[in-house]
Amino acid sequence: MPCRLWPPINKEDYRGVWVYLEREGDRLKDVGLELLGKARDLAQKLGGVEVAGVLVAGGEDLAREAIYHGADKVVIIDNPDLKIYTPAEYAEAIARVVQKYRPEIFLIGATKRGRELAAYIANTLATGITADCTALEIDPKTRDLLQIRPTFGGTQLATIRTPQRRPQMASVRPGVFPKPPRDPSRTGEIIVEKVEITKRRTRLVSIEKRLEKDIADLPPVESSDIVVAGGRGLGTAEGFKLLVELAKLLNGTVGASLMAVRAGWVPHTRQIGQTGKTIRPKLYIAVGISGAIQHLMGITEAKMIIAINPDPHAPIMENADYAVVGDYKQIIPMLIEELKRL
Ligand code: FAD
Repeated sequence: MPCRLWPPINKEDYRGVWVYLEREGDRLKDVGLELLGKARDLAQKLGGVEVAGVLVAGGEDLAREAIYHGADKVVIIDNPDLKIYTPAEYAEAIARVVQKYRPEIFLIGATKRGRELAAYIANTLATGITADCTALEIDPKTRDLLQIRPTFGGTQLATIRTPQRRPQMASVRPGVFPKPPRDPSRTGEIIVEKVEITKRRTRLVSIEKRLEKDIADLPPVESSDIVVAGGRGLGTAEGFKLLVELAKLLNGTVGASLMAVRAGWVPHTRQIGQTGKTIRPKLYIAVGISGAIQHLMGITEAKMIIAINPDPHAPIMENADYAVVGDYKQIIPMLIEELKRL
């Protein structure tokens, strides 16, 4: 049945397979490269059409990486305001270049961002999107993209088509397709498109790095020679930011008392003590920890203990090789300053 909501399109006007190249810092996410490999396969089945990548606010070095992995062409969307991802603005910019070049297929990695962005782009382009595909094929008779994905709780596979709209959009789970080998002898075209955003829907107020991610990136407590642990005395989760900074400067990691875990400041995997981990670090720095017996049970094998606590009578102070009496908010920044100077 013809679609009544959207004006009809001429499918013949659309050619080529496009892949969104998601960035992760200054590298391309693997899923984009995996999709370039699949795009080559689909392009061949469509009679040898062009494979292109689209990159938002990325450099030519990243575009070349995409070419080495199978792109014939990479379109870089150049707009300094798009350095930081915001879905509405990214979608507008991508939709503009898609409308200009008219690929018949547009693939996107089903990452956290990719899923969100795919829905925004499909809506802007007035086309359909099949999320989380695990296989893609071409119907040789109609040239339709067969978008295959699990359904009914994974017991069945559904094959979905977008017969009346172009581009045909699909998001694909990372790791479904193999990453094509990197071939630095491949050459391709890099096009820089300056795209203005007509309407900014997102206002960036500030960027805060998530503490959980910072902590998750640190090594586990049981395999680190230096552990900086925090307790209820830190007062807030914010206090752990200082401990993360100190731990990084010492090439160590961050641990916690049960009370800090219960407060939700750090995950349970970082808890030290009777119901947490037993550790044997060369240096243990206890910050805002009273030193209850259940906590001490986890650090009996520590070679050296330094305690920072305003209460000179806290049990941890008796068990420490060095007891620093004072507020961590003053002492830790001083330590950080000194270490940075080394
Ligand atoms: P608190 O005892 O409240 O100590 C906070 C400390 O911070 C105080 O000494 C205070 O003087 C200090 N402080 C305050 N302000 C500052 C500041 N500005 N700068 C520096 N210091 C400051 N606990 C564990 O840790 N691990 C376990 O595995 C564990 N298992 C348990 C199992 C059982 C069966 C039971 C009953 C308890 C267990 N506990 C465990 C809990 C344990 O008994 C203590 O309640 C807990 O260790 C106390 O945590 P804390 O030292 O962070 O908090």
